Amino acid sequence: MAARMDLDGRPIKPMTICMIGAGGFIGSHLCEKLMAETPHKVLALDVYNDKIKRLLEPDSLPWAGRIEFHRINIKHDSRLEGLVKMADLTINLAAICTPADYNTRPLDTIYSNFIDALPVVKYCSENSKRLIRFSTCEVYGKTIGSFLPKDSPLRKDPAYYVLKEDTSPCIFGSIEKQRWPYACAKQLIERLIYAEGAESGLDFTIVRPFNWIGPRMDFIPGIDGPSEGVPRVLACFSNNLLRREPLKLVDGGQSQRTFVYIKDAIEAVLLMIENPDRANGHIFNVGNPNNEVTVRQLAEMMTQVYTKVSGEPMLQSPSIDVSSKEFYGEGYDDSDKRIPDMTIINKQLGWNPKTSLWDLLESTLTYQYRTYAEAIKKSMAKPTAS
Ligand code: NAD
Ligand code: UDP
Repeated sequence: MAARMDLDGRPIKPMTICMIGAGGFIGSHLCEKLMAETPHKVLALDVYNDKIKRLLEPDSLPWAGRIEFHRINIKHDSRLEGLVKMADLTINLAAICTPADYNTRPLDTIYSNFIDALPVVKYCSENSKRLIRFSTCEVYGKTIGSFLPKDSPLRKDPAYYVLKEDTSPCIFGSIEKQRWPYACAKQLIERLIYAEGAESGLDFTIVRPFNWIGPRMDFIPGIDGPSEGVPRVLACFSNNLLRREPLKLVDGGQSQRTFVYIKDAIEAVLLMIENPDRANGHIFNVGNPNNEVTVRQLAEMMTQVYTKVSGEPMLQSPSIDVSSKEFYGEGYDDSDKRIPDMTIINKQLGWNPKTSLWDLLESTLTYQYRTYAEAIKKSMAKPTAS
C-alpha cells in the first residue's frame, strides 16, 4: 500500500485504534473502510459482532491481523483501560441511540450515553490518549424558529434554523418529555470532554452525526431484531415496504431531516482520524444540508424507489398517519428541523457530502431488498401459533 498523506502533505503513520461500539451500524462501516484503505490496526470492542463478521474471518483476508474483536460490555469490564492504553486513539460509538428507547428506557439511555462514557474519557485523559467521541445532532434539540409564530416571515430566515457548532443553543423540551434524556446526556458528556480539553489538555474531537443512513442500519423487526422492536426511520419504513404494509407517519410526518449517505460520512471520520492537528479541539457537524425532506416526503421517495428496486406494485394507500403517543408512547417529542452548518468541517477538513437522497435510497433499498426480501416472505408464509 502506498504511504498515505495527510491534508498537509505529511506521511501518515500507521496507528492502533480502540473502537468502542465497532459492531454497530457506523462502526461496521468505519472498520470496513479502515481495513480496505488504510494500514491502521483496530481493536474492535462491542457486545455483538454480526455486522463485522465478514471482516473477522477467514484468516486469509488481506487485513488479517489488523482487526481484533473483543467482546466487551464497557459497563463492567476491567479490560477496557488496558485496551485504551494499548491504542493511539480511542473512538467511542457505544450508545443507546434509538428514539423508541429514549422515553421508554430513559434510565438506560442516560447511563449508556453519560455514565458509561465517563471511564472512557477518564482513561484517555489520564493516559494522554486522543479521543474521538460520537455525539449527535440531537444536542441542538429544537430550532429557535420553531418557537416563532407559525406565520412569522423569520421562520424562512436561516439564522433561525441552521445549526452551527459554535453559536447555536441547545433547546430541549420539559423534563416530562422523555424524548430528551438522550440529547441531554450527550450534551453533558460533550461539555465534560470540552472541559477535560481546557483543564487537562485532553486531545479530543466531537462528531455530531445528522441522520447518517445506509446498509446495515439497525434491524428488521422479527428478522434480525425483536418483532416488537422499533428501529430508526430507515429500518421502520424498509420493514413496512418489505411486508407490503403502509408506512406509518408519526404526527403526520411533518418533521424535517437532512439525510447523509453513510459512505460519505465515513470519509469525514477518516479525515478526522488521519488529520489530528486539524481535528483536535473541534466539534464537527457531519451531514448533508442539500438532502432535506419532511418525513412524509421521505416516505414517498422510499415508496417510489422500492417499487423500482423490487418490481412490486405500489400499495393503494402507501402511508397512514399515527399519533406519536400510539407509536412511541407517553413523553415522545421531536426535533422539528435539522440543517447542519458546514463551515467548520469545510474549513478544517475540506469535506463535503456527495450523494443525493435519490441515489443513497436506491443503493440502500437495493441492499435491504437483497438482504431481507426472502426471509420476510418465508416468515410471513409461516402459520402463526394460535
Ligand atoms: P448502533 O446502535 O448501530 O451502534 C452502537 C453500538 O454500540 C452497538 O453495536 C452496540 O452493541 C454498542 N454498544 C452499546 N452499548 C455498549 C456497551 N455498554 N458496551 C459495548 N458496546 C456497546 O448505532 P450507530 O448508528 O452506529 O451510532 C453510533 C454512534 O453515533 C452513537 O453514539 C450514536 O449516538 C451516534 N449517532 C448516530 C447517528 C446516525 O445517524 N446513525 C445519529 C446521531 C448520533
Ligand atoms: N418516524 C416516522 N415513522 C416511523 C419511524 C419514525 O414518522 O416509522 C419519524 C420520527 O417521528 C421522526 C423521524 O421519523 O420525526 C426520524 O426518526 P428516527 O427514529 O430516524 O430518528 P431521529 O431523526 O428522530 O433521531
